Amino acid sequence: MPLTKSANGRKRRPLIGCTTYRKMADNNPPFELFGIRPSYIDAISAVGGIPILIPLSLPEEDILEIYDRVDGLLIPGGGDINPRKYDGDTENPWIAGVDDDRDRVEFILVQTAVEQEKPMFAICRGHQVFNVALGGSLWEDVHSQLPDALTHDYYRTHPLSYPAHTVEINTDSRLARYLGTTQAKVNSLHHQGVRDLAPLLKATAYSPDGLIESVEVPGHPFALGVQWHPENMFRDNPAWLGVFAGLVEAAKKN
Ligand code: MN
Repeated sequence: MPLTKSANGRKRRPLIGCTTYRKMADNNPPFELFGIRPSYIDAISAVGGIPILIPLSLPEEDILEIYDRVDGLLIPGGGDINPRKYDGDTENPWIAGVDDDRDRVEFILVQTAVEQEKPMFAICRGHQVFNVALGGSLWEDVHSQLPDALTHDYYRTHPLSYPAHTVEINTDSRLARYLGTTQAKVNSLHHQGVRDLAPLLKATAYSPDGLIESVEVPGHPFALGVQWHPENMFRDNPAWLGVFAGLVEAAKKN
């Protein structure tokens, strides 16, 4: 058998490193797991990327070794960021699911990817991590702090793909380019939102109540955050794969 460098004889495809959640498995006795919802994996795979999971708990130098080997990053959804990270209200009763170690790992990756121009796509919590890691802040709980806001926390009551509200997308944004539209109906599975925008970020989409629903780093090859969950919508509307394809295309050039 001839010796080849790759196991399947094909050209290498871009590796997309995905950060993970820490969860307790309900075994008896329970134990800790690192994981991610399969919808993110399916979306990356559907556009030719190779998803690979990045564990939590590693020291910074190990995280950076993984960072160096991946061609792009996906920062998925999850629990709330510790409000201490943005000088927020730690007493807000709606804050849930804080994991300081996950904040630490994702802040390192996001800051490095922005600085070194590695392609990165940040979804929901990821979009919020993107903003806070670069110096922005959050509404600790949109519904109690902004009484005029639309309902954004459909995760309690509706299917994950439920089209909750529209977003108005800037014509000159990367997001509009990959989606081919400046108006979209999106799902909404969050109770927090961007308050003060980080200095490096540009808001590129808003919900009708004025909440920032998408951000980009101008001039970066691909650093994009969305407050909604395209990985739960692409099966109903394949146009959503366009954003994942944008990430993978940018990762190929990295
Ligand atoms: Mn929303």
